[in-house]
Amino acid sequence: MNSDKKIFLFDMDGTLTPPRERVQGDMVRALRDLSSIGRIGILTGSDFDYVWEQMEFAFGMGGVPVDRVDILPCNGTKKYAASASRRFELVHDVNMQQEIGAENYNTILRHCAGWQWQIMTKFQEIPYTGTFLQYRGSLLNWCPIGRSASAAERKAWVDEDNKSKIRDYYSGLLTEMMSLFSIEATAALGGSTSIDIYPAGWDKTYGLRHYKDSEVYFTGDKCEIGGNDWHIYEELKETGRAFKVENTSDTLKIIEDLISSC
Ligand SMILES: [Mg+2]
Repeated sequence: MNSDKKIFLFDMDGTLTPPRERVQGDMVRALRDLSSIGRIGILTGSDFDYVWEQMEFAFGMGGVPVDRVDILPCNGTKKYAASASRRFELVHDVNMQQEIGAENYNTILRHCAGWQWQIMTKFQEIPYTGTFLQYRGSLLNWCPIGRSASAAERKAWVDEDNKSKIRDYYSGLLTEMMSLFSIEATAALGGSTSIDIYPAGWDKTYGLRHYKDSEVYFTGDKCEIGGNDWHIYEELKETGRAFKVENTSDTLKIIEDLISSC
């Protein structure tokens, strides 16, 4: 059997690793075993630097062979594959500012900046850290607590967001604003602290464009409507190859099942 026919795509935060944390040894072993029956793809809203920070350990001695893995940051609008020298190299890349136009991009930035001020005024107890907006080429990441927040600071955000549904509210406003300005873009919750904004169709289903002739599996933790795994989960669920998890332990069970059933 050609083991490249199967591609096992995984979300990263909350699926392969706890949010913004390093991958654990049991997950590395599970992925290594799975890589013998198909390719592994890490399909995440994060950019390559975060994937590397959290996943580098998986590719060390006795880990997952790099030539069995594709890294698909920014919802797969970037693709990194191992080169002959066994290093990950960028092989696909597209650009959001070109796709929607500079004027539309600035309109989105302006609104997010204003809403950031609103959030900071209304929720003054949250320990904001700065770097609220980050352009990643294929998406704009808006993180109201700030990208460099520590685990404790992130938790303060998550607690308040669970209570007050801040991201739900502002991603709704973003959607309304973009439709008003006829901007063809989507706002979706990313990870547990962000909102990702990207051109229409550049959700995680973009990652499927790399695997038109493969049998694709997907596992993610934000498969509910509004979550960043929702579109791809919906697209694949009819095939029975899409899996919803709550945490990394669920993912380990799914990998175990995949290995015994494939
Ligand atoms: Mg996730």
